[in-house]
Amino acid sequence: MLFENMVTHRTATVAGAQVYEPEHFDFTWAADPCMHAERFPYGKSCRHLMQTEKEAVMPRKRTFNIDDFVAAIETHYRQWDAPIITFIANRGASPFEVLVSTLLSLRTKDEVTGPAAERLFKVARTPEAMIRLTPEAIEKRIYPVGFYPTKAKRLLEISRILLDRYDGQVPDTLEALTALPGVGRKTANLVLVEGFKIPAICVDTHVHRISNRIGYVNTKTPDQTEMALRKKLPRRHWVRYNELLVAFGQMLCRPVSPFCSRCPVADMCPQTGVDRHR
Ligand code: SF4
Repeated sequence: MLFENMVTHRTATVAGAQVYEPEHFDFTWAADPCMHAERFPYGKSCRHLMQTEKEAVMPRKRTFNIDDFVAAIETHYRQWDAPIITFIANRGASPFEVLVSTLLSLRTKDEVTGPAAERLFKVARTPEAMIRLTPEAIEKRIYPVGFYPTKAKRLLEISRILLDRYDGQVPDTLEALTALPGVGRKTANLVLVEGFKIPAICVDTHVHRISNRIGYVNTKTPDQTEMALRKKLPRRHWVRYNELLVAFGQMLCRPVSPFCSRCPVADMCPQTGVDRHR
């Protein structure tokens, strides 16, 4: 009896060769000596596999695929908290409120950003209302977000520019947004995505770290990651990519010691640069 008749014909590429994967091997049929032992790289022979079930149930490593990766994270995302800017945007925030919240969130935890934005929006939801406040009044509302005195001044500056040049509206291009004081590519891209639902790639620390860990990019800085993703990431994933990876990074793929044992994409992740995990 040939082994081709005993296995499910599902293969993987190992060291450049097509091989059968052990979990698709049907042990109940394995009565005869194997004629193709060299094609089963996980054991010494097919008989060996019969005797060492432990090896046979080892997690299968599948080739990384960005669609499978996004789909797996998307499935689990439903059980996780949305990142704060997504949460604010989903509650019907205007592009101005998204811009203000994003600026407040820089170097600030989500649990601090949310309440601070809420306190500020109680008195200023528009550039017109913002410029009626003093820097001290804004500081009081947004404290304790990181760099709150600087952010208070920036919010006033930006509000005046929006009123002078854009009729009080937030512009919807990367170029115009990054021309505003204190607005970098990360902030601008997030405003495009969350404020306008325009496909853009916001690369923050989570997106940079995870995109490298999963081996999708090989970059040193968030800016390099953004450029690499712009070339490689299918456009259909641009709007959701940041939201999904931020939540994933907060819940499982943590900066230090990620929860690889509970990770839904562990079977396709090379864990690049991960030296300690749980
Ligand atoms: S296996 Fe570990 S390193 Fe890879 S994506 Fe999952 S949590 Fe992150």
